[in-house]
Amino acid sequence: MDYKRILKEITIELKDHVSTGAVTNTIPELAKVDPKKFGMHLTTINGANYAVGDSQDRFSIQSISKALTVALAFSFSGEKIWKRVGVEPSGTAFNSLIQLEYEKGIPRNPFINSGAIVIADMLVSCLENPKEDFLRFIRVISGNPEITFNLAVAQSEKDTRFRNAALANFLKSFGNIENDVDEVLDFYFHQCSIEMNCCELANAFFFFANEGKTREGKAILTASQVKRLNAIMQTCGFYDESGEFTYKVGLPGKSGIGGGIVALYPKEFVVATWSPKLNKKGNSELGMHALELLTTKTEMSIF
Ligand code: GLU
Repeated sequence: MDYKRILKEITIELKDHVSTGAVTNTIPELAKVDPKKFGMHLTTINGANYAVGDSQDRFSIQSISKALTVALAFSFSGEKIWKRVGVEPSGTAFNSLIQLEYEKGIPRNPFINSGAIVIADMLVSCLENPKEDFLRFIRVISGNPEITFNLAVAQSEKDTRFRNAALANFLKSFGNIENDVDEVLDFYFHQCSIEMNCCELANAFFFFANEGKTREGKAILTASQVKRLNAIMQTCGFYDESGEFTYKVGLPGKSGIGGGIVALYPKEFVVATWSPKLNKKGNSELGMHALELLTTKTEMSIF
């Protein structure tokens, strides 16, 4: 497959795209990002790498971190995590409170904020130094010891935490948060503030495409466990636009309001894109379009 040529074609075609999106304004610190940025990095299972645009610029991974926290919680606690978080698409916005009332404090899936906050609570319970240990995990899976939090972004999210604080307190009222709400939120804001570039992100997700093993051969999850997480990324990874992403792109993946998207074709490749302007559902507009072009041109969608 001539990925080099295809990525080049994609950047050329994206230039004609008329954008209607906007950079997120829910976290003030993220609103400062240059809206014109675009980067893309594809890494194959065999170790070939292809990159275009601003693929070396670090950005805030935000909700993409939710796929990594659930992987870590799954590796510690196995199937029992699904007693406290479901595996069904929500069809509601990422920060919605509505379904929690009906579902007695069990979030629909680990990728909406309520679900990710429950997963954060599990990690606060089982890790000795939650923030440091999670960072160590990210550094191991990406093979990069430099990855770290952006403390200004974490603080900015803390300063404007009202909705996430409401979710965490609501979950606590149902008994689905074990720890102190502020401690859980502090962990959650830090996980979201992690910065990576497209290359680092593609490497961090390598084990999802490689039957649970990192590029260095370290087993993070079993093949069956990554199959399950990839299935949840497919059905829930793009907020209430997961159906649209499946329809247009046809790969499991996860997006974040920092404008990043990571997607993968099991046993073939992992691809990460970054473009900060988001569509109305909170997904990177150019990133989604770039990935649609990728699977159209390569004819490599899992469908
Ligand atoms: N930290 C963001 C929040 O909790 C993550 C949102 C996202 O990337 O979808 O609102």
